[in-house]
Amino acid sequence: MDLQELYSIPPGLLETSPRELYRILSAPSLIHLPGRKSSTLFVSVLLHGNEDSSLYAIQKVLRKYQDQTLPRAMSVFFANVQAARFGMRHLDGQPDFNRIWPPGGEAQDSEEAFLMAQVVDAMARRQIFASIDVHNNTGHNPHYACINRLDDTFLQLARLFGRTVVYFTRPKGVQSMAFASLCPATTLECGKTGQEAGAEHAFEFIDACLHMAEMPDYPLRHSEVDIYQTSTIVHVRDHVSFSFTDHRADLLLDPQLEFFNFRPLEPGTLFGRCRSDAKICPLMAVDLDGQDITDQYFAVHEAQIFLKRACMPSMLTLDETVIQQDCVCYLMQAVELPQR
Ligand SMILES: [Zn+2]
Repeated sequence: MDLQELYSIPPGLLETSPRELYRILSAPSLIHLPGRKSSTLFVSVLLHGNEDSSLYAIQKVLRKYQDQTLPRAMSVFFANVQAARFGMRHLDGQPDFNRIWPPGGEAQDSEEAFLMAQVVDAMARRQIFASIDVHNNTGHNPHYACINRLDDTFLQLARLFGRTVVYFTRPKGVQSMAFASLCPATTLECGKTGQEAGAEHAFEFIDACLHMAEMPDYPLRHSEVDIYQTSTIVHVRDHVSFSFTDHRADLLLDPQLEFFNFRPLEPGTLFGRCRSDAKICPLMAVDLDGQDITDQYFAVHEAQIFLKRACMPSMLTLDETVIQQDCVCYLMQAVELPQR
């Protein structure tokens, strides 16, 4: 599969829905558009086919400048158009499009990973101003920006989206990590799919980036930003059935969990219930090196699963498919900026 590169907006692109987009772009496509400032803003949309705020945000940007030159050059990557057709994160048999970017991504022999590497190569030939990857999540989360480096320009870019910033180094293979070596890069998490506020927020952010003369490179003050670092990923163990409602499942997760996102949790918080004869905790916590550290985070007592230590979760969701394809949640710690 070769990357399709275009130099103008195909007819119909600005009006189509995510499910109809495949009729206009039948494969992943990178569209380069000129602008008054030549340093290029790179935006990727629909790396996860079911996360529609990205498409609606970029359509709104492009409609705004339909009859005029963009304030700055912009390249837009329309990623998993085939999964978008079916409203899926990715199709069965496809890798996750936001886990396969070089270096260090999964499925490096797949044609999809080869395609992502072509996107990086195509953009590396240009002078890139910043990179923005737009997503939704499924749980009850605030809007926040993620970065993979704690450099001042990355923090300034993320802070422009909101005061909640998440810093992570795992999972690898995400778009923002691939672009971090080329320019300030961020991943926007715009709340749940289908909510207009998410698309509007991403639109305003992209539009602001198109207008910026240069990326500020001075340090943020501690009072200006709340930074959390992802330290632990929680999965359901293999071969464990789980549910939020079905009491026959091996693991019955608490439906209140999604309201815990970005809230400080105390030791003793109930996460769910398991079978009374369960030999090990059906939830598995792994650190950034993939080591099983469940014992540090969870305790099972009388078939109830409790949190053992204080932490703050993100990405908790009631969507069982997302839990299966991705994880139950990430656990985070606050990051203190150096005093300046
Ligand atoms: Zn996503």
